[in-house]
Amino acid sequence: MFNEQEFEILKKDALENHIPIIMDDTLEKIREILETEKPKRILEIGTAVGYSASCFVRYSSPDVIVDTIELDEERAKQAIENVKKIGVDKNVNIMTGNAVEILPTLSGEYDIVFIDAAKSKYSIFLEEGIRLIRNGGLILADNVLYKGYVMSDYNKHKQRTAVRHLREYIKEVTENPNLETEILEIGDGLAITRVTK
Ligand code: SAH
Ligand code: MG
Repeated sequence: MFNEQEFEILKKDALENHIPIIMDDTLEKIREILETEKPKRILEIGTAVGYSASCFVRYSSPDVIVDTIELDEERAKQAIENVKKIGVDKNVNIMTGNAVEILPTLSGEYDIVFIDAAKSKYSIFLEEGIRLIRNGGLILADNVLYKGYVMSDYNKHKQRTAVRHLREYIKEVTENPNLETEILEIGDGLAITRVTK
């Protein structure tokens, strides 16, 4: 059983602790996608404390499996506790470590890949995502518009590297003939890419 009360506590705690969980309008769109795609296997890059992973289980079929990767050990520990409290621990498999190193050790086929971690690694995550997704599957990427910085001509030094990498990601998903992409200005920007192999 999905424990709604524990889920709300997790959401509140995450927001209070400034953990960048998916925004409500992004979640609404993801819910729509899950209800139409009916995925059996989901790969998530960037677990944080397990909020989005719990959402994936909540809006998918009861036998869905979510494999999710988190670099930060403390957050991964919290995520393991949180998915237990929410009652989705049977569906969620949390891997602790750097996705850049873990992804090459995984094998397909996933129905959905959700990219929500280090922005400067999005192109690497995309490449691995394409390898691991089934033909016709979806790769979703959060934060692709990065508070509007990606659309802006001038950015502070601090954001420049991330912006450059996110622009590269958008260029790749829109120009690769095997990929069909929609970029939505919801939340912090969500890219939805259908992969044809
Ligand atoms: N998907 C979560 C939020 C993720 S926040 C949610 O919506 O609930 C991004 C997370 O990615 C952070 O916790 C950060 O530690 C993690 N991260 C950053 N770089 C990573 C990497 N190379 N491999 C795995 N996780 C990474
Ligand atoms: Mg995000």
